[in-house]
Amino acid sequence: MTGIVEEFLALKEESDADVLAMQVGDFYEFFADDARLVADELDLKVSEKSSHGSSYPMAGVPLSELTPYLKSLVERGYTVAVAEQRGDDDTTREITRTATPGTLLEATGADARYLVAVVREGDAYGLAAVDVTTGAFRLTEVGDERTALAELGRFGPEEVLPGPVLRGDDDFCDAVRDDADATLSVHGTEAFAPGKATHRVREQFGEGALDAVGVEPEGPGVRAAGAALDYVAETGVGVLSSLTRVQPYRADDHVSLDPTTRRNLELTETMRGDREGSLAATLDHTVTAMGARRLEAWLVRPLQRRGELERRHDCVAALADDALERDAVRETLDGAADLERLAARCTSGSADPGALKRVVDTLERLDALRERVASSPSLADSPLGDVLARVDADDAAALRETVDDALADDPGGETGIFARGYDETLDELAAEHDELVAWFDTLAERVKAESELSRVTVDRNKTDGYYLQVGHSQTDRVPDDYREVKTLKNSKRYRSAELDEKERALFRVEEERAARERELFDELRAEVAAHASLLQDAGRALAEVDALASFAEHASANRWTRPELRDDRSLDVSAGRHPVVEQAVEFVPNDARFGEGRRFLVVTGPNMSGKSTYMRQTALIVLLAQAGSFVPAESAEIGLVDGVYTRVGALDELAQGRSTFMVEMQELSNILHSATADSLVVLDEVGRGTASDDGISIAWAATEYLHNEVRAKTLFATHYHELTALADRLDGVRNVHVEVDDESYASTGSGGESGPATGRDGDVTFLRTVAEGPADRSYGIHVADLAGVPEPVVSRSRDVLERLRADEAIDVRGGSEGSEQVVFDLGSGELRTDEGATGESGGEGEDAAGDGEDDAAALDSEAAAVLDELRNTDVNNSSPLDLLQRVNEWQKRLD
Ligand code: ADP
Ligand code: MG
Repeated sequence: MTGIVEEFLALKEESDADVLAMQVGDFYEFFADDARLVADELDLKVSEKSSHGSSYPMAGVPLSELTPYLKSLVERGYTVAVAEQRGDDDTTREITRTATPGTLLEATGADARYLVAVVREGDAYGLAAVDVTTGAFRLTEVGDERTALAELGRFGPEEVLPGPVLRGDDDFCDAVRDDADATLSVHGTEAFAPGKATHRVREQFGEGALDAVGVEPEGPGVRAAGAALDYVAETGVGVLSSLTRVQPYRADDHVSLDPTTRRNLELTETMRGDREGSLAATLDHTVTAMGARRLEAWLVRPLQRRGELERRHDCVAALADDALERDAVRETLDGAADLERLAARCTSGSADPGALKRVVDTLERLDALRERVASSPSLADSPLGDVLARVDADDAAALRETVDDALADDPGGETGIFARGYDETLDELAAEHDELVAWFDTLAERVKAESELSRVTVDRNKTDGYYLQVGHSQTDRVPDDYREVKTLKNSKRYRSAELDEKERALFRVEEERAARERELFDELRAEVAAHASLLQDAGRALAEVDALASFAEHASANRWTRPELRDDRSLDVSAGRHPVVEQAVEFVPNDARFGEGRRFLVVTGPNMSGKSTYMRQTALIVLLAQAGSFVPAESAEIGLVDGVYTRVGALDELAQGRSTFMVEMQELSNILHSATADSLVVLDEVGRGTASDDGISIAWAATEYLHNEVRAKTLFATHYHELTALADRLDGVRNVHVEVDDESYASTGSGGESGPATGRDGDVTFLRTVAEGPADRSYGIHVADLAGVPEPVVSRSRDVLERLRADEAIDVRGGSEGSEQVVFDLGSGELRTDEGATGESGGEGEDAAGDGEDDAAALDSEAAAVLDELRNTDVNNSSPLDLLQRVNEWQKRLD
């Protein structure tokens, strides 16, 4: 016979969990390392347990109190196996479930809790995301790692299951940990196998499910889905049956938003990591948990196409215009149960009678809402009715009646769970019960009438059961057949044979009644669980109405306006505001305009003048419009975008210890690779994190590339005044300047973000710290190259840098009048040569004259540059070959 601790260690060995909770009688115990871990994490007391001559730390929690401890452990990212006693002898133990962050049913709070499985096959990635608390099951396939990570991040998963290839990919795993802050769990490779996974998915969602939703069998998406299902089944929470349908989506249905952009725009949390102050928190006036989840999901997944968006806008318009109807709708929703979650609780068997009562109540609200919408002149014509019509009204009514007829008014109370008339057996038992209770209730009266006792009471307690209590003054009058059971200070307690018998009868009836209630309740709950998909439909409909009403509420309280959606690449916002900042300060509205010949705006203005705010506000207005919301502006015409990309220069982010110039360049690289002519790009002081001359070069080359090749709508705030010159020479580039009113600048300038106090000084300090190593000063461009910035941009940056250094004319690429020459004075950032070198001056024989001048100037400066490099060459630290090559190059340049 092995000891308890040995058994514990053996079970632990068998499980993959971080922690094991093992039932020992009325407690769940943790031993050894696990005891120490839970003691540290949960403040449990540790005692010592001896077993087979050794002593082990031990910590325990009562059986009924496991759930909160389980939740805390799992929410801290641990997986916890639970072993329970099984069998008649109560000594066989087996692991009955494993609670993991992504499959914890007991989750509280409104947030979605996703488990995401990811499979890689060549360049293709499959993602399956499941929320066991609501039964949501989403599936998608994407074509590259960056999109896969972006999609994964949007779910904000609690737990990620990387497939066989990805679990060995450290870069991928690190990226998941960093972006998503999720637990990575390794699940058996077989579960990801194409055949087995496809089988699992068909078993769960039906043979025809994959065809119906147009997903390839055995593809990466299905493999991820099969593995996720397998994992959920294995964790043993019994919610598999609440997963009633798979909802595939195409990543390109949604506006592309990478993790950096979501963070920069503070969609669901601020840069500091708080929900308060995020866009979601600002907009959230929902009255149900499901509504809050829906609102947030819409904000992180704006749509690319207008159909559904126009529907949402129609609904918001109807609700915004009629405050009375809106209030009525929101009041009806207020207090509605979280049906998506209740469905999961019913299928897992953890819903109690109160929960079923709330299902009835919520289905009643759904009906009320439907009637309200149908009968309201302002809402009837809106698509709100369609949203509610997605729930099968007859099925819902039938289920509601079934449950309502079954349950008592107060199913937790005295009269029992079920209504009279629901079950004959139960009614009989109840009648019997009432009769027996009445017998006890009237016993004292009868005794007084039939005996000489005038002062007697009947009562019951835990140890003695029912008894008659008689004061000492009357104990001599007690009838003979009474048996004394206890003597107290002033009285004695008695029982009789008849009382014994009635009590036994009462206990039996109580027991039978409880058993019958349990049986019937399990049936009723199973009946509700069988309608899980109906409840999920109803939950989704209510969630949507709640989220739409929340949009409407915010729009009406803040004078937001309905955006006009367009299929072209224009953007025209009049008097736009920042949706979050406008809550805190007297906001100065701004216009934002893109269109023909105006697709790249260079934004300049002093520090703290509002450049960053202006650009974010523009991006947010577009996102809000494409999430289905109204927008903070007087009017807004929005050309639908396929992606929003933002990058804030490393210097601004450095203050928060977040970013390096390398990261800045990697993200710039991502943008240059991913953005399209239909995207909106926001670059905030990009290039600022390095020496000013190579920073300018990178910014210059990136601008040309974005303008000429990518052709995205772009806002680029920069303190490199040099870039404003591009506006005159590239036909799509325009300058906008943030004007500063001294007073408001001073008053708003002090609060808010802690940006760097000064620009140039900050640069120089930064340069010293990071640029010490490299021998040549184009460090920034090297980093850009390393970070994967497209080759043409890198070589163009080198080119621009060389010319800047040499005070040489830079030709603007892609200019409408052909190649133009611009020369900057690096110190002041001003154009030195302008008219003489440009094509604009035309007809003055500029070819001969211009070239001659430039050559002369270039020759001098080239010689100066070579001398400079010669002086700075560290002979002791260069290899002979390196020196040879340099001398060779200098000679060529002097030729
Ligand atoms: P910059 O990027 O030019 O340094 P920011 O955009 O960071 O400036 O804005 C500086 C401060 O001014 C912030 O505290 C912001 O809240 C406030 N601010 C910006 N734009 C406006 C505006 N249009 N109206 C009122 N306050 C603003
Ligand atoms: Mg700024």
